[in-house]
Amino acid sequence: MKKEVRVRFAPSPTGLMHLGNIRTALMNYLFAKQKKGKFVVRIEDTDQRRNLDEASYAILDDLEWLNLKYDEGPGINSKYSPYFQSKRTEIYKKYLDDLIYNEKVYRCFCTPQKLEEKRQRQLSEGKPPKYDRECLNLSDDQIKAKITQDISFVWRLKLNEDQIFEIQDMARGKIAFEMKHFSDFALTRNDGSFTFMFSNFIDDWLMQITHVIRGEDHLSNTAMQAALFNAFAVNLPVFWHLPMICNQQGKKLSKRDFGFSLDDLRNEGFLPQAICNYLAIIGSSFTQEIQSLEELILNLDFENINSTGSIRFDFEKLNWINHKWIEKIPIGELLGYVKLFLYKQIPDSENLIDEKLEYILKILKTDLKTLKDIGKVLKFYFISPKTTKADIEKEIGQDEAGIIIDLIQKNINLIEKPNYFLEKLKKEGKQLGLKNKEIFGPIRYLLTGKFQGPSIHSIMEILENKDIEKRLNLM
Ligand code: GLU
Repeated sequence: MKKEVRVRFAPSPTGLMHLGNIRTALMNYLFAKQKKGKFVVRIEDTDQRRNLDEASYAILDDLEWLNLKYDEGPGINSKYSPYFQSKRTEIYKKYLDDLIYNEKVYRCFCTPQKLEEKRQRQLSEGKPPKYDRECLNLSDDQIKAKITQDISFVWRLKLNEDQIFEIQDMARGKIAFEMKHFSDFALTRNDGSFTFMFSNFIDDWLMQITHVIRGEDHLSNTAMQAALFNAFAVNLPVFWHLPMICNQQGKKLSKRDFGFSLDDLRNEGFLPQAICNYLAIIGSSFTQEIQSLEELILNLDFENINSTGSIRFDFEKLNWINHKWIEKIPIGELLGYVKLFLYKQIPDSENLIDEKLEYILKILKTDLKTLKDIGKVLKFYFISPKTTKADIEKEIGQDEAGIIIDLIQKNINLIEKPNYFLEKLKKEGKQLGLKNKEIFGPIRYLLTGKFQGPSIHSIMEILENKDIEKRLNLM
């Protein structure tokens, strides 16, 4: 029987979810679903310097908002739980004891200052920085003396410099790491807590993770973790190191770049469907670009992954995809999303009944790039513009304004039938040598306060007839 695929998203709750994290979570999710496996979420909250609870729950909320449901993770009991690393300390202790017993680790008493000095010295000598193993050969007596003096220490893994570990990467194939280039790395911190390197490995092992899908920035950690898998004689999972997402200048996307965090995008009115769609297809080429999670699960080709170095964040493309999703989702769902923005931007809009807003959205959704555009697009409905005859004259000249205003006045009695009214205006305008555009521009200006905007038919369909009459009647 083939082994069940088990992947995990393992965020450290140290800040807001950013595009890189989301893409990692998404790829893990899509891979698990395509392979009919399990998507596990594990919170790597071992950094005791921060208050991590709030940040952890924010990540879980974000995953829920993105619709990336996990099979195992916080709140779920299984033979692999708990899924918060802060609750797994006893497990890490037990496995560290094994390494101590088998003499695969040693205590290092070097202070951070001392280590930094060593590092600087090596750098000034033009050597790559690497721990010089000062503490590897301390005698038992020396160790005892330091412990008696209460000098804090960390446990380091003793690497075999002659070893070369090979990993299988889904994008790059085999990658070999020579241990001689690496330091004996620390498994614990000075306060006795466990490092990322150790706890992350233990959990991947014990949670039986078959594929580790994470950012390329973890590549050198993978090398060191391969040594840990080896120390416990367990098989390595397969890896996939995802390319970094860069800004337009080709630099790794950072807090300073708009769109870096999920909060940026959410507040700006991007739909979860669009964000997932965009992040899933960058780096692949699809003829059909708009795809739901279900479609992506079917269509992504994990057997032939591009091994691109980095991916450029293309905001225009994301906007386009978002626009397509705004047009695509069921109107009731769009209504739910839009209200959050509309009510904030135009408080009066809360009086509008859902049926009417839904009706309006059906007509105007095509004018929305993001949900946030709703205020701009729909302002005219709530706030009557104060356009005067003089305003129109200023825009198109006195003569033309006069002709068009006369035309409107002459036909204002037809306003009960907006389409008929517009047809009549077009016809009579043509006889006077006016193009449709020349007539509709001023009408739009009178109705909405702007020359540009939604189609004149849409506007007239949305506004009540008496409102249209009031706005067009300049007499
Ligand atoms: N906690 C690590 C991070 O947030 C996860 C690394 C991994 O996926 O192995 O970067």
